[in-house]
Amino acid sequence: MTEALLNIVGVTRSFSAGDQELTVLKDINLQINRGEMIAIIGTSGSGKSTLMNILGCLDKANKGSYFINGLNTSTMGEDELAALRRDHFGFIFQRYHLLGDLSALGNVEVPALYANEGPHARQEKAKKLLTRLGLSDRLDHKPGQLSGGQQQRVSVARALVNGGDVILADEPTGALDSSSGEEMMKLLRELHDDGHTIILVTHDPHVAAFADRIIEIKDGEIIGDKQTRPAKKVSESISNHKTSVENKTKAKFALSWSRYIEALKMALIAMANHRLRTFLTMLGIIIGIASVVSVVALGNGSQQTILANIASMGTNTIEIKPGTGRGDRRSGRVRSLTAEDANALKTLPFVDSVTPTVRANVAIRYSSETVTGSVQGVGTEYFRVRGYSLAQGQYFAEDSIESLEQVAVIDANTKEALFSDGEALGSVIFLGKLPVRVIGVTKPIESVSNNSDELNIWVPYTTVSGRIFRQNYVSDITVRIDENVSSAVAEQGIISLLTMRHGLVDFFTINTDTVRKSITKTSDTMTLLISAIAFISLLVGGIGVMNIMLVSVTERTSEIGIRMAVGARQTDIMRQFLIEAVLVCFSGGALGIGLAYLIGVIFQHTSSDFLMVYSTSSIIAAVACSTLIGVLFGFLPARSAAKLNPVDALSRD
Ligand code: ADP
Ligand code: MG
Repeated sequence: MTEALLNIVGVTRSFSAGDQELTVLKDINLQINRGEMIAIIGTSGSGKSTLMNILGCLDKANKGSYFINGLNTSTMGEDELAALRRDHFGFIFQRYHLLGDLSALGNVEVPALYANEGPHARQEKAKKLLTRLGLSDRLDHKPGQLSGGQQQRVSVARALVNGGDVILADEPTGALDSSSGEEMMKLLRELHDDGHTIILVTHDPHVAAFADRIIEIKDGEIIGDKQTRPAKKVSESISNHKTSVENKTKAKFALSWSRYIEALKMALIAMANHRLRTFLTMLGIIIGIASVVSVVALGNGSQQTILANIASMGTNTIEIKPGTGRGDRRSGRVRSLTAEDANALKTLPFVDSVTPTVRANVAIRYSSETVTGSVQGVGTEYFRVRGYSLAQGQYFAEDSIESLEQVAVIDANTKEALFSDGEALGSVIFLGKLPVRVIGVTKPIESVSNNSDELNIWVPYTTVSGRIFRQNYVSDITVRIDENVSSAVAEQGIISLLTMRHGLVDFFTINTDTVRKSITKTSDTMTLLISAIAFISLLVGGIGVMNIMLVSVTERTSEIGIRMAVGARQTDIMRQFLIEAVLVCFSGGALGIGLAYLIGVIFQHTSSDFLMVYSTSSIIAAVACSTLIGVLFGFLPARSAAKLNPVDALSRD
């Protein structure tokens, strides 16, 4: 006698139910030959499905062995068992177990997909099978749009798509009306005639009557085994099929990339079918990425604005102000700095130029126009210190200072504000009550400074202190340092000179260089701090993704079970969930970047105080980060999906 195709030897299967052990199968011995058509019959709860699951390698025995074609299955790994399910078995379930997201055609293709069949071959095969089963006009229907009988025929096609050497049908007619049930049994009979080995489980003797051999099971024991018709000769077609399966596996490598594409397609389908859930999952990532990108952009922007402002203060200047420090409320009343101090500073070797400044808070008027602006009394070197250049006319000279001359240099903004006809030179404007003649117009200073719309008018400082205030002190003194001198050394020199002159330190200095450094540092720290907060929100978003994916695994347990039953490897399941997580996070990241840009546009329209500078590196980092979150937080759910036991997964609904 040739070896049996399926050989069960002394198999026991028990489940632990609470503290008790429930033995469902007791020392079962069963041989099934190639080409047989067998019915396993018994009352509900007698252990038929459990036996069937062991036969189909969905479940493992606690004791005993199970040989397929002489090969011991108990020594096989998960992937080898998956390969057996994929290439040799075809399952038909009472409740069809089709994937609701896929069309009839898509469902039939699934086992072929896991068998690495190319997309075209796969589709052709599925179409042919469905057409043969009378479903040619239902290819694109989803299971929900098909009748029970039609769904069951789709599941038959699915069982056959990889050959279906052995067809395992668990109560195939259980959910069907009697005529569809009869049709189904005729179909199985036909498949049997084609040479397939058919094993069906039923509690119904009428259904069992379609088989050639009836095995009766009761309380986990075989109590009867009757041959009702003579066994058929084995057909050649099955062994032919076997070689074709082997050839197919050889093409494995070439086709493995297509599994990624399929997993991607599946992920897209799953996402499209659960749009709200997908969107809510993404929301955490969207907000996280948008905040990271905007915060970095805002940080960059404000830093640039600040640096530009510092740059517009002149390249390397030191400001000297009366008082003891920035916060000194008396500083306005301290009248220690004089024009003589400025002249004394000029003698220092490292000083490029010096200007005193006297500020006046007066209205600026020309004919009927009155504007508010900054009126400053300055020295002749002011324009050099600040880095201004002339557009028209001239600066005032040293003798204008000495003679308290009523002349003014204005900037381009002031010219535009006061002289609509464009001719400013020679005109007389009023600073409060004091008439001054415009002798020069400066060019606008190149900077992103937020003061770019300020109006500036400069007159000799003596004119302000002598003719407007009648005072001899100045508001502050600005010193421009030679390019190649260290600003810290220069600052010390200035401090010691002024301390000597005043006899005490009743002034303080602001070094643009140290200001620049400290502001840069502060804004760096701010960016870091806010980025840390943004990163935490990203992390929270990631944990949200993980939670939803875990829920999704639970919700889709039966889908995972079906996929495993038709031969998906653990890696296939893992890949599918991981790709889905990455895709969700990646799309969330992309949307987040879009949102960040939108925030930038809105900011620009509502306020010019904010400047957002998007850096490519922060965007690349954001995308990389969201993808990483997908991998990181998708891994756990993906692994728990892959580790599910096929039978457990299938039995959950
Ligand atoms: P049948 O298909 O003949 O109706 P089953 O094989 O499905 O019966 O189940 C036989 C017995 O095993 C039942 O009492 C059932 O409660 C029990 N059983 C089946 N699967 C499990 C399981 N995973 N855990 C615990 N008990 C189970
Ligand atoms: Mg059952």
